[in-house]
Amino acid sequence: MDTGIVVVGASLAGAKAAEALRAEGYAGPITLVGDEQERPYERPPLSKGYLLGKEEREKIYVHPADWYEEHGVTLRLGVAATAIDPAAHTVALAGGDRLPYSKLLLATGSSPRRLPVPGGDGEFVQTLRRVGDSERLRAAFRPGARVVIVGAGWIGLEAAAAARTAGAEVTVLEAAELPLLRVLGREVAQVFADLHRAHGVDLRFGAKVEELKPDGVRLGDGSTVPADVLLVGVGISPNTALAEHAGLTVENGVRTDQHLATSHPDVFAAGDVANAFHPLFGKPIRVEHWANALNQPAVAAAAMLGKDAVYDRVPYFFTDQYDLGMEYTGYAEPGGYDRVVFRGDVAGREFIAFWLSGGKVLAGMNVNVWDVTDPIRELVRSGRDVDPERLADPAVPLTEI
Ligand SMILES: Cc1cc2nc3c(=O)[nH]c(=O)nc-3n(C[C@H](O)[C@H](O)[C@H](O)COP(=O)(O)OP(=O)(O)OC[C@H]3O[C@@H](n4cnc5c(N)ncnc54)[C@H](O)[C@@H]3O)c2cc1C
Repeated sequence: MDTGIVVVGASLAGAKAAEALRAEGYAGPITLVGDEQERPYERPPLSKGYLLGKEEREKIYVHPADWYEEHGVTLRLGVAATAIDPAAHTVALAGGDRLPYSKLLLATGSSPRRLPVPGGDGEFVQTLRRVGDSERLRAAFRPGARVVIVGAGWIGLEAAAAARTAGAEVTVLEAAELPLLRVLGREVAQVFADLHRAHGVDLRFGAKVEELKPDGVRLGDGSTVPADVLLVGVGISPNTALAEHAGLTVENGVRTDQHLATSHPDVFAAGDVANAFHPLFGKPIRVEHWANALNQPAVAAAAMLGKDAVYDRVPYFFTDQYDLGMEYTGYAEPGGYDRVVFRGDVAGREFIAFWLSGGKVLAGMNVNVWDVTDPIRELVRSGRDVDPERLADPAVPLTEI
């Protein structure tokens, strides 16, 4: 007997899974359980247009409010799933309810990491993950406010851009020598350092944060950087507690196969939380980006319904900071490439960077250059050897490399 499909995590991946299940023709009960009060919404605007006050709240939602009822999807919002029992096929909710399921999707996403220093979990420390966080920061980003951001990753840099645009004084403290060094490598990381310095951000590298205090950050050299607003953006951790306690295989996220099935055949995972075997790379990868949460659920939904679906999309993400727009297509791990090739005007921030390993393109990033994602994806997917000189030459079309 079909007792229905339960999705834990009512955000982008969860909502897209419900949509895909109905699109596949599934007519049984679907319940979407989420511990936030909001219906599913998208997070990229929270550090961009919504944080800047340029985008309306209504625009952030995945579906209109009446979509769920119209599609027979039960929303259980503001309630956490506290345990899953794969043998009994049940999900326990805070408050005592227990939901039966035939198939379960874990779309629990991830949560901001805290700094393991005194004051690291203080109430005055802000993180940026939920819509309320974005609204608090938006109100605090005022002309002259001293905003200190710990961590020069994507969230930290986008927030820095929004704070500067609002007229705040912004200091970014980063332990490494450059922003985004681990993900982009030295050559491209420098572009982002130059961008933020050009906009008046006080970027401090090699910073050792010793303590977070309501009025500032104490550093290893004994100095304190005064702060009216203190934001920590030092990465995220996948929300794996339910899977771990249920005995599912968890390694850097919930391990799945290429069909997004976990180690229990009736439990699937998608989005930030899934460390999914990727046929193109021949190993599991966990992608903490929007496009992954958007597209994986269709595969999980089909697989839950017994169809032979495989997730093998080339990873993709984007960022907007000041007047810089960027898309990144592919997957280059820190230390996994041996060469970076630039095409275009790096100083003018209008270029494409390619990460290569042994002549193959692992990833490409277009900065203020548009409509090139398809050929970059094709270069990555093909795995063929390319001539770096032709790759660097803007006169050679990307489709002819
Ligand atoms: C501010 C910000 C900006 C971003 N910008 C970009 C960008 O520019 N480009 C890009 O590619 N990506 C971006 N991302 C990343 C992107 O938003 C994520 O990859 C995406 O949100 C992942 O979706 P998800 O549904 O897997 O998980 P999440 O969005 O994390 O959602 C998981 C949901 O599950 C809920 N949940 C967890 N555990 C439980 C439980 N036990 N019971 C009930 N509910 C639970 C959580 O509260 C949450 O609502 C950004 C992220 C943030 C925070």
